Amino acid sequence: MIPITEPMLGSEEAEAAAAVVRSGWLSQGAEVAAFEARFAELVGASHACAVSNCTVALHVALLAAGVEPGAEVITVSHSFIATANVIRQTGAVPVFVDIDPDTYNIDPDGVAAAITSRTRAILCVHQMGMPCDLGRILPIARVHGLKVIEDAACAIGSEIHVDGAWVRIGAPLGDVACFSFHPRKVLTTGEGGMLTTRHPEWDRLFRLWRQHGMSIPDTVRHNSARVLFENYLMTGFNYRMTDMQAAIGRQQLQRLAEIIERRRTLAASYNEMLSSLEQVQPPAEPEWCRSNWQGYCVRLAPSLDQTAIMQSMLDEGIATRRGIMCAHLEPAYANHELRFPLPESERARNESILLPLYPQMTNAMQEQVVTALVYAAEKSR
Ligand SMILES: *Cc1c(COP(=O)(O)O)cnc(C)c1O
Repeated sequence: MIPITEPMLGSEEAEAAAAVVRSGWLSQGAEVAAFEARFAELVGASHACAVSNCTVALHVALLAAGVEPGAEVITVSHSFIATANVIRQTGAVPVFVDIDPDTYNIDPDGVAAAITSRTRAILCVHQMGMPCDLGRILPIARVHGLKVIEDAACAIGSEIHVDGAWVRIGAPLGDVACFSFHPRKVLTTGEGGMLTTRHPEWDRLFRLWRQHGMSIPDTVRHNSARVLFENYLMTGFNYRMTDMQAAIGRQQLQRLAEIIERRRTLAASYNEMLSSLEQVQPPAEPEWCRSNWQGYCVRLAPSLDQTAIMQSMLDEGIATRRGIMCAHLEPAYANHELRFPLPESERARNESILLPLYPQMTNAMQEQVVTALVYAAEKSR
């Protein structure tokens, strides 16, 4: 059986977690601080704040951007549902715009057309690790005074070319970027998230919100020789990461370069193997970006039956996934009023599939995937 993905974990991660258990300090502490520092350094951010997962990272990012009940946030429906849900959780309205069919990312023309007097922010997604077109989105945001929140859940290690240089996603180019360490992503801590921002005052807010609005972190009280009392400065949350997760994360960061290189090699060889197939179109990578290939999505010719292809491959022992979901097609959004039709989002969901891609995959396994896909396409025709 070839799964859709497999986290790359070794005895280093197991040892790091065990050392935290032995230390006696399990909640957010020194390991979280060290993980944040290394993460910030790797992506070139001035501030990085670790939280429980990317969904809550997006939540506090929206709060910092001043997104309030009644406000509008421009985003895509074509994303994991958390992207739209967090907007609703602030009481604001997600305004869905369509995607560019080649990159599966938000269409900058759609963003410009969706701006109203209530728009507060743009929540753009680097879908499947492919950077979205910030080169066109940021100037639009600037003109209209909008905040830009990057959903970088899948995009650790991806790069974008701006002003003549390659920049890692998370630097961040917008106001804030939010990452996920769920096992389905490129690096994992089991569950986990990270916020990187250019604004020191936002970073301060994130640290307060994640810890109940507490003025003095418990690590400081623990290490103090004097009696200290904390205050609660605002209505906060418990969005903390544990030191066990952070210790695993630090080991995962050590593997980042190797993981990205291997994923890029595998994506290139998929591209090559699929180039001769007429009914299957490999993903496009614009020249101004370098994906980490968190997801490798191929588009099927309309003559092919998506479910039949997936079933046939599963019968051959190969897991695939349907193209990225659309929030507006889910029951939770049945009453959501669409401002724009989303034909490309729906087409991408219904006419594409994700193929297995993870660093431990061998070339032979990749050949098995392609053989099964070719066989499935022949049967499905
Ligand atoms: C996975 C994912 C999320 C949610 O991340 P969690 O860490 O599981 O909360 C949000 N947005 C996108 C685009 C994702 O792929």
